[in-house]
Amino acid sequence: MVIGMCEGCQKSEVARVISALRQRGLEPRIISAGSNVVLGVVEEMSQGLAQELSQEIGALPAVEEINHFGSSWKLASRNFRAETTAIKLGRRTVGDGEVVVMAGPCAVESREAYLDLARKLAPLGAGVLRGGAFKPRTSPYSFRGLGEEGLRIMAEAREITGLPIITEVLRASDVELVARYADVLQIGTRNMQNFALLEAVGDTDKPVMLKRGMMATIKELLLSAEYILARGNWQVILCERGVRTFEPETRNTLDISAVPLLKQHTHLPVLVDPSHAAGKRELVPALARAAVAAGADALMIEVHADPENALSDGRQSLTPAAFAEVMAELSALAGAMGRSLGMAA
Ligand code: PEP
Ligand code: MN
Repeated sequence: MVIGMCEGCQKSEVARVISALRQRGLEPRIISAGSNVVLGVVEEMSQGLAQELSQEIGALPAVEEINHFGSSWKLASRNFRAETTAIKLGRRTVGDGEVVVMAGPCAVESREAYLDLARKLAPLGAGVLRGGAFKPRTSPYSFRGLGEEGLRIMAEAREITGLPIITEVLRASDVELVARYADVLQIGTRNMQNFALLEAVGDTDKPVMLKRGMMATIKELLLSAEYILARGNWQVILCERGVRTFEPETRNTLDISAVPLLKQHTHLPVLVDPSHAAGKRELVPALARAAVAAGADALMIEVHADPENALSDGRQSLTPAAFAEVMAELSALAGAMGRSLGMAA
């Protein structure tokens, strides 16, 4: 329920509405303050209670209108916030119109290789460095990351390049550790509905990049984001990274419709990961361009100096030279759309 107060109404009139809601065990949130106060109630309520409240509160002269969110996601809804949420990451901002590109290897494999790659990616226009320290692998015998040592290496890369770092957190019990190093916490596709983990990252003050579950609907993605928002963390970036379909030619099928649909349904910025969608490096440039053309706020691209010998996801990783080409193409495309990659001229 969204309650719009009359312009310039008295504080006491707002307090009266709040108290009517609290009497029924509902805790309203202030969506907008200032001269146009808007209150939001996210708790589910019976139809009877909604009607009773609409009648009682709607009769108050200071209440201009009462609306309903019209969706099961509420804090994430565009009806809650009309403006796209802008999230500042270092010198770049996701959600303010520019296209922010996050890049790096699937996993941090060694200090030397990671720092070397980070030094190459920064001048190519990467806005955020990615890397996995705790890796969710399908097989327990695959390389599962360097753990805290990987985080330390990423932090060193941040010192050297000045770029913020994003890395995945796998378990709620690791959130505090990962948040000590990372600028952005990544929730992987396999954990999209790990609600304890979502609440744990919701309790931090770090931006969160939430990946769509490989078999999750857009509604389920939004409801997972809601878990983070409901804990008071508004800095959530949604990620489309492909979903499972019957098509074996690609690792996943990039759901490009998710981009405009999410832009319609939510104020949260949208990132596309063409690497995990394609699973094949030769498809990554086209999917990256499609994502920008569809209106994505950001991209995440896997890059490895020696993809053939990568310990994970080498098949989908671009070389730094191929990444440079993609960046040039994306820059031209973004420019044609009145946007930019935010790279220094
Ligand atoms: C990753 O970003 O390296 C990753 C494991 O992604 P996803 O969760 O989308 O598979
Ligand atoms: Mn990967």
